[in-house]
Amino acid sequence: MYQSIHFNAKSRAVTNASKPEVLEKLRQIVGAENVLVEPDKVEPYGADAVKEKFPPEAVVFPESTAEMVEILKLANEFLFPVTARGGGVGYTGGAVPVDGGIVIGTDRMKKIIEINPDDLYVICQPGLTTFELQQAVEKHGLLFPPDPASYKDSYIGGNIAENAGGMRTPKYGVTKHSVLGLEVVTATGEIIRTGGRTVKNVVGFDLTGLMCGSEGMLGIITEATLKLLPMPEATATVRASFKSMEEACKVLTKFTPEGLLPMAMEVVDKHCIKAIEENFAFGL
Ligand SMILES: Cc1cc2nc3c(=O)[nH]c(=O)nc-3n(C[C@H](O)[C@H](O)[C@H](O)COP(=O)(O)OP(=O)(O)OC[C@H]3O[C@@H](n4cnc5c(N)ncnc54)[C@H](O)[C@@H]3O)c2cc1C
Repeated sequence: MYQSIHFNAKSRAVTNASKPEVLEKLRQIVGAENVLVEPDKVEPYGADAVKEKFPPEAVVFPESTAEMVEILKLANEFLFPVTARGGGVGYTGGAVPVDGGIVIGTDRMKKIIEINPDDLYVICQPGLTTFELQQAVEKHGLLFPPDPASYKDSYIGGNIAENAGGMRTPKYGVTKHSVLGLEVVTATGEIIRTGGRTVKNVVGFDLTGLMCGSEGMLGIITEATLKLLPMPEATATVRASFKSMEEACKVLTKFTPEGLLPMAMEVVDKHCIKAIEENFAFGL
């Protein structure tokens, strides 16, 4: 249970997180340069892609699981709210600190711990963008399939917590289909490990699946073991025009008898084409 929350004249939530001794302890955990408290600096961390602003009292950037544990233990001791944040481009409000307290930014948790081309997995921290991870594994001829359109901004932790999908979803599934195991710090500051490194890891409750899409409510992901695939040997892009939306959608069913499943498909209607042309003039 959190302490009761007060609001100051500017409708900013004020909790125990603002206490000087709490801020001092946070500085001791992550280093003073990794704690933001100035109103203009914390403001951007008060919103996600929807831009409804609820500025936190402080933003803290841990670098390791050990620091994350200490932060959550402190939050328990002083009873202030904690909100995990990745790239901050979600649409659900999950990264928005509506009750104040602190935002835990994962921007410094960018380590790739292992890329294993033999067993087809990568172990990494949650603060890499989807794009950074894809580029790193591509150097080994491997593919990390989840591809939300926000892939250059959204973080692996955010993708898992939102169970993000993308254009490749029909072929490869959503993010949860690429998550083998997780390290999570719970709200009480304990470390748990879910899943493992193998696909056939089915003993016990599916806690990895539970964490996927949990929007930061069940714990903070500090490490992820993600499934990789060999990069396709060749790819080709095809553009086709159809007279009606119905006709366009029917084409999907034509691939299956041919033994094909397209990697990505997008239907673009005439209004969309007009909007694209007005902005980019691709000559569609
Ligand atoms: C232009 C644009 C295009 C988009 N396209 C798509 C798309 O194609 N498909 C799609 O599914 N979504 C899409 N989205 C939505 C968004 O990008 C995804 O939901 C993305 O996964 C959010 O990632 P993030 O790192 O920004 O998460 P954030 O917005 O920072 O956080 C989202 C949630 O994850 C939690 N969280 C973050 N890190 C952790 C962690 N380490 N541990 C536990 N919880 C954590 C937060 O508390 C919050 O609840 C798009 C958004 C934009 C702006």
